[in-house]
Amino acid sequence: MPGIFVTRSTMPKFEDYCEILKDIWESRHLTNMGKYHKIFQAKLCELFGVENVELFTNGHMALELSLQALGFPRGAEVITTPFTFASTTHAIVRNNLTPIFCDINAADYTIDVEKIEDLITDKTCAIMPVHVYGNICNVEEIDRLAKKYGLKVIYDAAHTFGERYNGKSTAEFGDVSCFSFHATKVFHTIEGGAACFRDKKLGTKLYQLKNFGISGPENVEGVGANAKMNEFCAAMGVCNLTHLEEDIHRRKIIYERYIENLNGVEGLKLNFPQKNVESNYSYFPAIFNEKVFGASRNEVFAALANEGINARKYFYPLTNSFECFNGQFDPTKTPVALNISKRVLTLPLYPDLALEDVDKICRIVLSCKK
Ligand SMILES: *Cc1c(COP(=O)(O)O)cnc(C)c1O
Repeated sequence: MPGIFVTRSTMPKFEDYCEILKDIWESRHLTNMGKYHKIFQAKLCELFGVENVELFTNGHMALELSLQALGFPRGAEVITTPFTFASTTHAIVRNNLTPIFCDINAADYTIDVEKIEDLITDKTCAIMPVHVYGNICNVEEIDRLAKKYGLKVIYDAAHTFGERYNGKSTAEFGDVSCFSFHATKVFHTIEGGAACFRDKKLGTKLYQLKNFGISGPENVEGVGANAKMNEFCAAMGVCNLTHLEEDIHRRKIIYERYIENLNGVEGLKLNFPQKNVESNYSYFPAIFNEKVFGASRNEVFAALANEGINARKYFYPLTNSFECFNGQFDPTKTPVALNISKRVLTLPLYPDLALEDVDKICRIVLSCKK
């Protein structure tokens, strides 16, 4: 029997994708902002309720080029968190900017807004918070601080596709909000990403930067990359949007089954959708308190692996302890993030995960309890 993975890509109807493929085949327009790029972009604007969406090859390039487009001076500081995927921190460092790591709060694992102000210096140019597991940052307080100190806000919104907070999509927050459409996410375009932004001038820059910085037939204004979404990926996006609602509904049922099985277990902290948030149920993190539960996160991870079930230590390790940074940053300065990263396990969650499998996963987890 093949194992159970932490996530599994959703697929559109084969026939639906083939129909678009036929159109692409005949048009010979395979990339460079073609018909499906435009259609997909328009559909996202509608879904997000925003005017400006720029598409990219992946979520990482959306983050990296958004920072580049904002044009901060070399060495300027960006306040962010280490409890995230490599991409967030790498986007900062690859722009020759300095990440300043703020701790997270233990309630929802997003940036601790009480600790931001102390980190602001005259070199600070931006805040790059991360919405984690579909939990939305304290956007009001971040907005207030950004206005007070004249900082830009770039959200890593990779985990929040399809979510709403007080009726607003997460694409509406900050100066820029970036999404990932990687195959493993709630919604995907195989690989892909988007940046949603307020300032139309930023859109022109982003459009150029994803196409080598080319600004006209004989003009190259910026040192850009190549990060254009091709027609095949855009087509996958168009197809996958049709079953998004159904997917999220299935995720909710699976999520609730986990809750039913695991809620109230001593030494185990679960994650619940926040107030005023229409959740996308993207991840199911469980935080183990070894002293109370009787087994460590690593022991539970191993017990699941032993049965062919691949949970994920997500996010572990913290980005501020990555080998590539050669000890430049001190993870003990973000103690809450450090503590959670050692105790968290995200359990398998995808729309076609069978409820019997959820029960089996929970039985294995509970069998570790002493
Ligand atoms: C997936 C992810 C990214 C990167 O997106 P890609 O599309 O894989 O490049 C960035 N940040 C977070 C939090 C993610 O989960």
